[in-house]
Amino acid sequence: MSQDQIIILAFAFSGLVLSEYVQLISDRGSFLDSLWGRSQCDSCKSTIPWFGLIPLLGRFLLKGSCPTCGKHVSWKYFQFEVIFGLGWIASLAFFYINSITSPLILAVYLLLYCTSWLLMYEDGKHYSVPVSWLISWGITYVLAWFFTSSTHQVYPPDTLLMAATLGLALVSVALRKPKEERGISQLFGAADFIVLFLFVLLLGFQYTTVILVLTMINAVLYLLMRKQLKAGQRLPLLTVMLPWGYVLLFLLF
Ligand SMILES: [Zn+2]
Repeated sequence: MSQDQIIILAFAFSGLVLSEYVQLISDRGSFLDSLWGRSQCDSCKSTIPWFGLIPLLGRFLLKGSCPTCGKHVSWKYFQFEVIFGLGWIASLAFFYINSITSPLILAVYLLLYCTSWLLMYEDGKHYSVPVSWLISWGITYVLAWFFTSSTHQVYPPDTLLMAATLGLALVSVALRKPKEERGISQLFGAADFIVLFLFVLLLGFQYTTVILVLTMINAVLYLLMRKQLKAGQRLPLLTVMLPWGYVLLFLLF
């Protein structure tokens, strides 16, 4: 086995562990809290046996319920691990095909993968994300861009233009609302703005507009499918926007 294959294999294994870890951080609410203490049953707070924590298999080894109180274990953990794992394998395949085997670059990309999932998982649940997670994502995104971009061009004027465009849109929406409901958070969350501005700073106005349009189409289709399309409907915008951002990032370089 070559050294490259060993590195890829090591990352494949780390993906399995990280899929558990990302959920744990989200459920416990912080990086540090997730490092200490064993996982507990949501219902009776008894410690979950070690084999219940094995990614993908844990649910089946527990026979789908808590051994102490018998409470049904939600399928969402299993579904998350499957989607996370498939994306992880696809990322590794992409690196292998493009002969990216520098451990540093691999680590940055896969850290970006994990922090993105953390934001998407959390945004999908609560429509908001903690600032420290957003900063972690931002740092890994800038690093990944630094390793990927061939020109290292940044777009400060485009960022100002995007700020002006979104600002005007928000003002026009806000003015049509009753006074007590006026606020930026009615249309976008603060996290959506930060992600969007990082996209526009590193990708330029045109591509970010494409990301925004694809996100909106995606969001409307999703709401139509769930028969929830109505004014004032909240959306996990980050969950939709981040994957489109990466599609564009990969197409560009
Ligand atoms: Zn229990």
